[in-house]
Amino acid sequence: MVTDTLRHFIDGEFTGSAKDFPKLSPVTGEMLCRVAEAGESDVDDAVAAARQALRGPWARTTELERAAVLRRVADEAERRFDDLVAAEVADTGKPVDQARTLDVPRAAANFRAFADIVSAAAGESFLTGTAGGGRALNYAVRKPVGVVAVIVPWNLPLLLLTWKVAPALACGDTVVVKPSEETPSSAAVLAEIVRDAGLPPGVFNLVHGFGPDSAGEYLVRHPGVDAITFTGESATGATIGRSAADGVKAVSFELGGKNAGIVFADADLDAAVAGTVRSAFTNGGQVCLCTERLYVQRPVFEEFTERLAARAREAVFGWPTDPGLTTMPLISRDHREKVLGYYRLARDEGAEVHVGGDHPVFGDARDGGAYVRPTVLTGLGEHTRTNREEIFGPVCHVAPFDDEDEAYALANDSDYGLAAAVWTRDVGRAHRAGSALDVGLVWVNTWFLRDLRSPFGGTKASGIGREGGLRSLDFYTETTNVCVDL
Ligand code: NAD
Repeated sequence: MVTDTLRHFIDGEFTGSAKDFPKLSPVTGEMLCRVAEAGESDVDDAVAAARQALRGPWARTTELERAAVLRRVADEAERRFDDLVAAEVADTGKPVDQARTLDVPRAAANFRAFADIVSAAAGESFLTGTAGGGRALNYAVRKPVGVVAVIVPWNLPLLLLTWKVAPALACGDTVVVKPSEETPSSAAVLAEIVRDAGLPPGVFNLVHGFGPDSAGEYLVRHPGVDAITFTGESATGATIGRSAADGVKAVSFELGGKNAGIVFADADLDAAVAGTVRSAFTNGGQVCLCTERLYVQRPVFEEFTERLAARAREAVFGWPTDPGLTTMPLISRDHREKVLGYYRLARDEGAEVHVGGDHPVFGDARDGGAYVRPTVLTGLGEHTRTNREEIFGPVCHVAPFDDEDEAYALANDSDYGLAAAVWTRDVGRAHRAGSALDVGLVWVNTWFLRDLRSPFGGTKASGIGREGGLRSLDFYTETTNVCVDL
């Protein structure tokens, strides 16, 4: 759909490579386009352009000037709204309605938010006593960290990319971006957007390709990269972390999750069912924040499980342009094989499958796509692979609990620690849950409600560091403390 061959964007120009690869539609399996695959020399060129741009006019911009550029990028993203929606929908098969209300508006919102945050951020200073009874002034100067490698996954491609590019640019860095090989298209439109918004050449560079032995690996081990911000699987984070350690590079890692939901018997059950349908099945369950383990207090366990399964049974399949969809394909046939493998594993481990556990058959071109049915399971112990490993599909296991402490213990018994959703009307319990759960994000009576000024990230295998608001400024800058004896 988008163009014949998607190209890299290096030093303000679109460029190709000797190699390319096909990008297939998750809806039908047909080829959408070919995509240039960056070799080492392309990555060298992109990093060199980014380093050069650090010494150009971009280096002399003030925070307020960069904030103005970010606002122009946001305006341009809104002008290209339909192109971004088309790119995002083609690559992922997500419903047009979702791309129009979540993915694409967040791109402009990310640029505006970080324009505001960098404009309002105050510095710190201290008056310090000296041995002779005088005073010294300590103050901290924020400087760009340098060339930032931005590596992102395929599930919310544009949202996750701009979440990192916007603060990096706000801080005066230059970036080399590598989107997922599964979702190259919206990043290509973004390259046109930043160019047309007047970003100097070399400040934003884009290389396409895969991870190992390809663009991703070349980028993270490149000596010209100063910091790496990565969103993706925990195992990939560990691999990138090893390269980063060799080069002593700063890292920010937003990794996988195996997130718990907790429904207390005092909850507004209508809201909890609707919220859990969202938290388990949104985006085909392919959100790092999705609930894959649900704990429901015993008095409402059976009713809740039945209502959740009933909602999953009503799942609306269609084509991405259809209104009112509640499903979408997984990103690829490979990923579908992985998720269907977990559905089989769950049965082998002894799960009761209340709904789903297989893939739909349409009798049309969508049978070449990557659809699975939303799935609700019960009956498995905490130490089954189904309950410990991130599946990243529309699947949720439901288990009962008796008291509050048990609920927190079950939720915390995980290698991951990204997010939790808690449903209760007890205000004290709501606040206790916030402290008791060993995760980076706790939502109470809601899910995936974001304020871009607030910290975002995970504990344990779910990540290193936090981004969001001032924490993003901390990551994307270096700080020099200046001490002047007055
Ligand atoms: P992935 O780790 O396979 O790939 C992510 C990106 O890393 C891709 O661009 C890929 O090409 C690149 N990559 C892979 N190997 C690499 C290597 N050795 N060196 C450099 N780059 C490499 O993840 P995915 O399958 O694309 O995305 C799904 C995962 O992302 C899930 O685990 C999900 O939980 C996680 N995720 C986390 C968050 C968060 O904020 N914590 C958000 C979204 C997705």
